[in-house]
Amino acid sequence: MCSIEEKLERENKLPYFYRRYVDDTLAAVQDIPTATAFLATLNKAHPSINFTMEVAINDKLPFIGMEPMKMGSKVRTCIYRKTTDKGLLLHYQSHVDNRYKRSLLTTMLNRAHRLSSSSDLFAAECDNLKEIFLKLKYPERLINCTITRFIESQDREQALDIQVNKPIRIILPFKDQRSADLVRRQLSDLAKKINSDLRPVFTSKKIAEEIKVTEPKPPLVNEQCVVYEYKCDLCDADYVGYTCRHLFQRINEHKHSVIGKHLRDVHNLRNKDLRDQFTILKKCRGKLDCLIYEMLFIKNKKPTLNIQSDSIKAKLFI
Ligand SMILES: [Zn+2]
Repeated sequence: MCSIEEKLERENKLPYFYRRYVDDTLAAVQDIPTATAFLATLNKAHPSINFTMEVAINDKLPFIGMEPMKMGSKVRTCIYRKTTDKGLLLHYQSHVDNRYKRSLLTTMLNRAHRLSSSSDLFAAECDNLKEIFLKLKYPERLINCTITRFIESQDREQALDIQVNKPIRIILPFKDQRSADLVRRQLSDLAKKINSDLRPVFTSKKIAEEIKVTEPKPPLVNEQCVVYEYKCDLCDADYVGYTCRHLFQRINEHKHSVIGKHLRDVHNLRNKDLRDQFTILKKCRGKLDCLIYEMLFIKNKKPTLNIQSDSIKAKLFI
């Protein structure tokens, strides 16, 4: 089939939009006669090929589990279910490990997210899924919590994408206008080549500043009195804590805490160097400061490795 398509493309006989998945093809053509002519061309390409054709009804045309809809000059897509679909999926009471049941829900959400072209269509599909899974006796709490977690993870990914597309500012010393203009042009050329947004920021430095000896900052691990965050680099697990001592001492101790346990139990790792996975969330002035900020960060970030309620209660009674 691929070689036939390549041949048709060379001969300029493929429509401007043509996609195929195994034996299902979706094509956009101008009118019915063009579609009929293309169908004849396809069927003539090989004796064993015998395609049939379906055309859009009310601007809707289901295509392998998805329904593209023509809305003016745009195409919207959503999940398509056959009228005979009874929503039969893995029942919650089946003798199957719970992981598979949770994964099924996440898989269906992921599929809905990929196939829905807008957030309102995705939200409508979430409602459909909720109804389907409730009929399969999945606990409502589990359904709601899985949907919320899925949406949160998508938001996080989106935020990350935005961050990735943020302009990259390059700080350069200002010499004179001519060289500044030249640099701006060169950076703009480079930006196009690497598909990034590069922007120069010119600074003027006084001589005194130039020759000032800067004190080396202590590396992250030498910081004291901080609220810190641990993020596992192998999964989404995280942990928020504080220390009034040097951070490296605390990092060392974490080899035997929930973090060490997580690495051992989930990733089967022992004696892993943890330093790279720690970041400082807040530099504090004292222990009370640390306690308050730690509590706020835990409330805000809900790190998975903190047993949240315990840690807040414990800290309040100190
Ligand atoms: Zn992990």
